[in-house]
Amino acid sequence: MRAGIQIQPQQVEVLKQAFADRLEVNVPLGQYTSIRIGGPADFLLKVHSGADLEAAARKLWELEVPFRVLGAGSNVLVADSGVRGMVILNRARRVQFIETTEGWEVWAESGASFSAVARQAVERGLAGLEWATTIPGTVGGAVVGNAGAYGGEVAQSLLMADILQPKIERESWPAHRLQFAYRSSRLKRDSGDAVVIGARFRLEKSGKAKTRAKMEDLIDQRKQTQPAGASCGSIFKNPPGDYAGRLIESAGLKGLHIGGVEISSQHANFFINRGDATAADIWKLIQTARQRVADDSGVKLELEVELLGTWDEACLAAEEPRGSEE
Ligand SMILES: Cc1cc2nc3c(=O)[nH]c(=O)nc-3n(C[C@H](O)[C@H](O)[C@H](O)COP(=O)(O)OP(=O)(O)OC[C@H]3O[C@@H](n4cnc5c(N)ncnc54)[C@H](O)[C@@H]3O)c2cc1C
Repeated sequence: MRAGIQIQPQQVEVLKQAFADRLEVNVPLGQYTSIRIGGPADFLLKVHSGADLEAAARKLWELEVPFRVLGAGSNVLVADSGVRGMVILNRARRVQFIETTEGWEVWAESGASFSAVARQAVERGLAGLEWATTIPGTVGGAVVGNAGAYGGEVAQSLLMADILQPKIERESWPAHRLQFAYRSSRLKRDSGDAVVIGARFRLEKSGKAKTRAKMEDLIDQRKQTQPAGASCGSIFKNPPGDYAGRLIESAGLKGLHIGGVEISSQHANFFINRGDATAADIWKLIQTARQRVADDSGVKLELEVELLGTWDEACLAAEEPRGSEE
């Protein structure tokens, strides 16, 4: 699914037959990412239910057409040359709260906004996902990346994820099968053929005043520390025992800009699109920040954001900063 294989002309006809006028061709992806950067997908299909997502994925596997599922595009950087093959834009948003003998749970389709699901829990006085009210993106993206903030993360709250893979029935995976790690899961590491259709999270009966107060406190904290503007959140993972933002700031890089992208002067791990940025601009800024941090502190910063599409080989070859210590 993740390989960027060029679609052959005969496949275009096959795709048109399979998806009719729902199929969009040569679609600029910047509009579907939070940083508003990125070239076109060869093809794009919007899905509005879990069943629709499953049917589309199965059809594409059958046709051997490579595809990627895109949620809110808040953790990806799309190359200027775009994405070869199909992008499925996931807008499957059904949400259901369930009371069981064990307590409360919420199940949501993978295209549901994770923060909207968490807010609904808060409004029902159900605790456990208050931290998630501050995170952009969909439930599917959160499961793949083990999203987290303020001491909470998907790994702690997830009960089950509905996972689709080629040639087998849809399965319910308990959290341990996803092998979560810091901002990562088996699905992210494998870069393989798996689609998240939905996910179920554990909640606890609390009280509306309490859950609301916690949510509001976290939202306030976020407003004070994180910049507005088009970004993809943290560009780099925090290295063990430190913060990427602190390292970039201490290398003197706050406010540095290349082309249309600027390192935020409020939070140095946020790179802001000032309006006309390209993926090439942000790549140059990433490389500059990595190199300067490596020179300044000896730390190699790893990307948190995921590169999507066909990146110049020179970009990928430059993944390792020069002359830095392990
Ligand atoms: C301002 C800002 C603040 C942020 N703060 C945080 C934070 O505090 N903590 C945090 O963890 N993250 C944060 N992020 C990053 C981002 O919000 C999360 O990583 C989020 O969970 C990504 O969800 P998404 O739907 O946007 O995923 P996308 O960016 O659309 O996709 C991410 C990856 O998941 C895959 N994917 C998405 N949906 C599916 C699916 N249904 N099945 C299979 N694969 C799928 C995609 O193919 C891609 O590989 C922030 C981002 C921004 C812009």
